[in-house]
Amino acid sequence: MTQKKYFLAESEIPTHWYNIAADLKSSPPPPLHPATHEPIGPEALAPLFPMALIKQEVSAEAYIPIPDEVREIYRIWRPSPLIRATALEKALDTPARIYYKYEGVSPSGSHKPNTAVAQAYYNKQEGVKRIATETGAGQWGSSLAFACQKFGIEAKVYMVKISYEQKPYRRSMMQLWGSSVVASPSADTNAGREVLAADPESNGSLGIAISEAVEDAAMREDTKYSLGSVLNHVLLHQTIIGQEAMRQMEMAGDYPDVVVGCAGGGSNAAGLMFPFLKLNLGGHRNTRFLAVEPASCPSLTKGEYRYDFGDTAGLTPLMKMYTLGHTFMPPGIHAGGLRYHAMAPLLCHLYAEGYLEAKAYPQNPCFEAAVLFAQTEGIVPAPESSHAIRAAIDEALAAKEEGRSRVILFNLSGHGFLDLQAYDDYLSGKLVDDHYPAERVAEAMKALPVV
Ligand SMILES: *Cc1c(COP(=O)(O)O)cnc(C)c1O
Repeated sequence: MTQKKYFLAESEIPTHWYNIAADLKSSPPPPLHPATHEPIGPEALAPLFPMALIKQEVSAEAYIPIPDEVREIYRIWRPSPLIRATALEKALDTPARIYYKYEGVSPSGSHKPNTAVAQAYYNKQEGVKRIATETGAGQWGSSLAFACQKFGIEAKVYMVKISYEQKPYRRSMMQLWGSSVVASPSADTNAGREVLAADPESNGSLGIAISEAVEDAAMREDTKYSLGSVLNHVLLHQTIIGQEAMRQMEMAGDYPDVVVGCAGGGSNAAGLMFPFLKLNLGGHRNTRFLAVEPASCPSLTKGEYRYDFGDTAGLTPLMKMYTLGHTFMPPGIHAGGLRYHAMAPLLCHLYAEGYLEAKAYPQNPCFEAAVLFAQTEGIVPAPESSHAIRAAIDEALAAKEEGRSRVILFNLSGHGFLDLQAYDDYLSGKLVDDHYPAERVAEAMKALPVV
């Protein structure tokens, strides 16, 4: 029998995060001031983030030490297991070897606490009392709630309304870790009130919720803002995943031909990929990297590589990203964590340079893959992660077609125990296949700033 699980000891939790910026051949385009369109310096971000995180955001150091206090909390669930999907391989009758890194073992059930704990720590170090943030499906909000509770920081979470209604238990989780939660658009901010005035029935979106949280943080002296994806420092913190996976693949005596991750803002995909991508950048490997997005919100595969805002109201700096337009309101699909109009600038840069491939799937084939995964591997995946599973299965089927082996590594970014309504809808045939809303994207693209 082949071995199935690869565990590292707690003492082997990586001591540093890996910063891919140090190894890039060309620098990604800089963020620009929203009004002047001039490149911004670190000081422009100071009202929103603690200095330590801003330094990480612009750092060119290849390895950044993980503080002991952060590693100590990581020990609750890290190192996370790497698992060979032998039962799934058998069901697919494929010569491919499929591995997955399982991030669902964290307190909130996803990869997001990897950065939430780091962010809460640096805020605490700089005396911050309160953090405002947004959440889509509630995965980020619950992760930050957990992290803030660990460091005694107050948290206010603006939760996208459709998820607030579809996923009430995520709200309970945030509340049990001591955060206050409100449905976004809310009446608590100008940004929220404006959206409600135009459309009282608005489902909300990550872009709107970000506007609300940024406004909250900018208005209060005691409050900073925190983002669960997209930014360089978030991707940095997630590289703990890829560094562990690299050692675990060594234990398995294998090296991936293709590394797969679902992509909303890009952090779990980048976190798994970057340590492996380092070897491609150095010319030592030729690994393929595949980011997978929903067909209804396909920023990499259908968006344009342009400067755009990170939020709906246009409060954030401009970042060069593959974007569908900051005013684009994605359909209310079940993979709420993938409903973001753009993608991490670092990942976009690598995509533009040809280091990364991207693919988009509608939700039905993803749920079909998730159900097969649950029936073979026994883990109920988050709807977001099901996109990576779909792509990994298709890679394995392609290998079978070619009659050749292929080593596939994907990130199982979270479990789906709080997404069972979505599975109910799928199993009862009620899930509509979402499509690419071309007209709405075209409309949103008209609102892009001209830079
Ligand atoms: C939030 C989330 C995602 C998407 O965010 P990324 O920044 O693209 O990783 C994917 N999977 C799960 C389980 C999530 O909670």
